[in-house]
Amino acid sequence: MDTIITLFLFFLTIYAIYKFIIKPFFIWLFLPFIDPIAASERKQKREAMFKKLKEEKALIAENKYIEDNERVYDHKLCAYCHSYNLVKLEEKVGDAFWRYANLNGSQDMRRKNINYQLASVLADHRCNDCGAITLFSYYASDKPSINGPIYSRLLLKDSPNKNIKKIGYNWPSTEG
Ligand SMILES: [Zn+2]
Repeated sequence: MDTIITLFLFFLTIYAIYKFIIKPFFIWLFLPFIDPIAASERKQKREAMFKKLKEEKALIAENKYIEDNERVYDHKLCAYCHSYNLVKLEEKVGDAFWRYANLNGSQDMRRKNINYQLASVLADHRCNDCGAITLFSYYASDKPSINGPIYSRLLLKDSPNKNIKKIGYNWPSTEG
């Protein structure tokens, strides 16, 4: 009786090896000869999978590039391609205003001793990488300058090169 069970298990193992290992392997190996259509579908599926993986990898790299640039360059980036490689075109100092003002804009005399005038700066920059033009608005200060932090960036002109992917955006976001 034991012999029969052992024999049965032996053949079961052999069959399992054949069904789940040997047969699939030979089908995988000889599919182009057995069924060329299925083989080409298999190839397309594999290529699609690789393409998707590549796209996902590129997207992750792109997001990292965006995040890193936002952090390192304090949002002073091309609103089209997200590069920091910018050259200033023109800057304009806005109208001065009092830190403590009355409703009509005149100086609040109650805070005369601690009052001072402020102005903000606007400057447009051309991107050396894509040619787009971005406008930056700087925080108002008693010494207006383009060296300080910005509070917004706005795309004024798209890149003339349509081959460059637009990954930049206005900041803070003007959408939604
Ligand atoms: Zn750019």
